[in-house]
Amino acid sequence: MSVNLLGLNGRELQAFCAGLGEKPYRGKQLMRWVHHAGVDDFGAMTDVSKPLRERLAQTAAIVAPKVLRDATAADGTRKWLLDVGTGNAIEAVFIPETGRGTLCISSQAGCALECSFCSTGRQGFNRNLTAAEIIGQLWLANRALGRGVTAERPITNVVMMGMGEPLANFDNVVTAMQIMLDDSAYGLSRRRVTLSTSGLVPGIDRLRDTCPVALAVSLHAADDKLRDELVPINRKYPIRELLAACLRYLEKAPRDFVTFEYVMLEGVNDSVEQARQLARLLKPVPCKVNLIPFNPFPNSGYTRSSPEAIARFRDVLAQAGFTTTTRKTRGEDIEAACGQLAGQVQDKTRRRQRRMETAAT
Ligand code: SAH
Ligand code: SF4
Repeated sequence: MSVNLLGLNGRELQAFCAGLGEKPYRGKQLMRWVHHAGVDDFGAMTDVSKPLRERLAQTAAIVAPKVLRDATAADGTRKWLLDVGTGNAIEAVFIPETGRGTLCISSQAGCALECSFCSTGRQGFNRNLTAAEIIGQLWLANRALGRGVTAERPITNVVMMGMGEPLANFDNVVTAMQIMLDDSAYGLSRRRVTLSTSGLVPGIDRLRDTCPVALAVSLHAADDKLRDELVPINRKYPIRELLAACLRYLEKAPRDFVTFEYVMLEGVNDSVEQARQLARLLKPVPCKVNLIPFNPFPNSGYTRSSPEAIARFRDVLAQAGFTTTTRKTRGEDIEAACGQLAGQVQDKTRRRQRRMETAAT
């Protein structure tokens, strides 16, 4: 079986070249061709000798997930639906803004963590993506956005905020991020790669020690009782432990703050009192807060907070000294907004039904 070069980091590419009896610098050369130039054809690698190109064609391949759908929203947001086999599809979303372009990448097909307001969580868990499937999203987007060897970089930032919990697929996510950071590949700085987690405490510590990048934490509630309900992994790693892990992370992080994400759910977590509680809770942690208006999906059982409620919540945090932003909802008309990435959701977990049955008894 041939090796997919797309998913190999610098060290692994060197080892692969050594296995062919080639000098280690060939690894860098391959890295540049695959990721920098974005080629998938060994014949195009003009500074590689012909015999080596032929051997590469026999032993290796450069294969990204197949594009099933490619849609662009009215606001320029572009979404790729990608086939990852056995009926599983994942999504990558490009968000253009003035002066920067952000690609939102998936790490798993589905997600096992079952956050109550997330459509990916409703699908249940299918499988971890391979490193090639993760970095393949950036590779494909770069090519689709017309980046040649000399073109300007359309993608300046990557956020691991698509489908799945990145820290639950730790090794493959780290390999893919190493490729993002590699100067011969995408050369992104650690500050421009953000990993978002629902709060897997051991994973946060491991990330700090292996591949520190900017960190976003999905908090969504200021007390354990509510967070247990919204983000069930909180029962295992409660808020106090999560915040302690954030402080440890900051000792080695490329940025001197953590971003806390907070989805705004009407009548659930959006009161002024809850904002005050959040401000008290976060006081010891250098952070920014990003409020995310809830993006509805069929049978979610939740409603988005009103713009007034979001503004009131933001004001309380701002007055308490927190830099607080409200995420602009992008790409809604192509279901590319946060938490909508599953498209037509099949409620495999049947959580709502279970909940309703429990309520009825
Ligand atoms: N699993 C990781 C990263 C993917 S989710 C995590 O949970 O952090 C990326 C962000 O989208 C998280 O903050 C998540 O809570 C949020 N999100 C999920 N469903 C949403 C929805 N329906 N509306 C708005 N944001 C949502
Ligand atoms: Fe998984 Fe994140 Fe969705 Fe929770 S919010 S179910 S962790 S993808």
